[in-house]
Amino acid sequence: MTSSTELNPDVVVRFAPSPNGLLHLGHAYAAMMAHDYARQRGGKFLLRIEDIDAGRSRPEFVTAIQEDLRWLGLDWDGDIIFQSERFDSYAAAADRLKAMGLLYPCFCSRTDMRQLQEDGALVEGPDGPIYAGTCRHLDPAAAIERVASEPHSWRLDVEKAVGVSGPLQWIDERHGRQIARPERLGDVILVPKEFPVAYHLAVTVDDAREGITHVVRGDDLFASTAIHRLLQALLELPTPRYFHHRLLLDETGGKLSKSRDSASLSVLRSDGVSGHELMQDLRQGMFPVGISLSRG
Ligand code: GLU
Repeated sequence: MTSSTELNPDVVVRFAPSPNGLLHLGHAYAAMMAHDYARQRGGKFLLRIEDIDAGRSRPEFVTAIQEDLRWLGLDWDGDIIFQSERFDSYAAAADRLKAMGLLYPCFCSRTDMRQLQEDGALVEGPDGPIYAGTCRHLDPAAAIERVASEPHSWRLDVEKAVGVSGPLQWIDERHGRQIARPERLGDVILVPKEFPVAYHLAVTVDDAREGITHVVRGDDLFASTAIHRLLQALLELPTPRYFHHRLLLDETGGKLSKSRDSASLSVLRSDGVSGHELMQDLRQGMFPVGISLSRG
């Protein structure tokens, strides 16, 4: 993104943090990338709070996110969007996929899954272990009967879904044209047991509803885009362009995590660090000691 970037006021970008912890430098970098992408083109920058998991989302983190972004000087357009206010639309999307015969109920417990993983029975995918498909093989009538009385999630039958969608592609402005291979993630959960919707479905529905033209987010979500592209095709939603940016890494080469309070923006703020100067440094690729940018 250089100063020669062409203006395009139709551009709509979002920053979509989950309010289950304090934002850290990695989030500041991600928010900056999305914000600057929009502003350099004269487009819109939206703030969406991904609070679908009521068990982990906290109002104090929603407040902290706003304070952190203001401190950084990253202003957003319009009202903040809360996913927790949109559960009906996610349920409608899930119902549509069910009616297409593309979701199946899964009764596997976390313990079952952990056991399979410990036994080395699960193949590792780009976003964690791939579901072995145990419940895909249940007798459909018996499974539907169990739905009434047993806790269950709903999984996407990826193979069947790909059969419906046909081959799919998407454009990544940094990594180039991509062929979507959602089968590499396996039968992902779209409706979890514990809360009304999973990330993949909510994010796809919302990006379309908000008219997001460019999804600017970290490389940690690169693999997930194949599932989002598949859901767009199945639900007849438009496909945005993508820009997956590099990630900030800690001294061990791992992704910065919310648990590392030391790097949290609130701590930097209360230590008297200037948000404006921090942004200037990040924009120039200058990072605090021990923090570096991923390659590739
Ligand atoms: N809520 C996600 C996160 O905090 C980001 C979702 C996205 O940008 O697609 O990692």
